[in-house]
Amino acid sequence: MTEPTHDESHGGALGSRLNWLRAAVLGANDGIVSTAGLVVGVAGATESRAALLTAGLAGLLAGSMSMAAGEYVSVSTQRDSEMAALAVERRELREQPEAELRELTELLAERGLSREVAREAAEQLTARDALKAHARVELGIDPDQLTDPWHAAWASFLAFTVGALLPLLAIVLPPPGPRLPVTVLSVLAALVVTGWTSARLGAADPRRAVLRNMAGGALAMGVTYAAGTLLGAAGV
Ligand SMILES: [Zn+2]
Repeated sequence: MTEPTHDESHGGALGSRLNWLRAAVLGANDGIVSTAGLVVGVAGATESRAALLTAGLAGLLAGSMSMAAGEYVSVSTQRDSEMAALAVERRELREQPEAELRELTELLAERGLSREVAREAAEQLTARDALKAHARVELGIDPDQLTDPWHAAWASFLAFTVGALLPLLAIVLPPPGPRLPVTVLSVLAALVVTGWTSARLGAADPRRAVLRNMAGGALAMGVTYAAGTLLGAAGV
């Protein structure tokens, strides 16, 4: 799953906002593709609106809860290791402040400061908030901005749900005739938007991303539709 990592969050508040936005777009994309594949597959087997609604809604809930649980576990684990690293750092600062000051000086010098300036900067940072300085420079984390696992879980849940609603509504609202074309076209249009947006947020070439994204969605719908049609024809 895509969540802000240490390296990326070095971009500061803007960088981490963009990461969240990108994660949200990718989560919505997951919701669109997996639910579209599901409902188009069922539509290959049956015209029953109740069956489509049941399958689509079950897919939406299963997908969004699985995304949320996965995100909760992954962010909790990350947070645990960050807290553990901070605890070690706190102890070291208490037990060997001189060594820690030298360490901070080294790290700042490695980043291009002259020895004297690095020493001066390290002393000032240590005087103001030693733990925060070590957390940022040494561990690459901001102790005031650790990601909340519940936050991340909710964000994934919502992103997937928003994406999943599109194919679900597109398949159950129209009558049986135009049902499939409406769903396929609206899904492909949505995949243009999510592919383009995530590429722009990640500074990649949007055209390729859009084409790959549409191809992925079309493949998912094609495969499940074929499977559904075969099962429907076999009277399963
Ligand atoms: Zn340290």
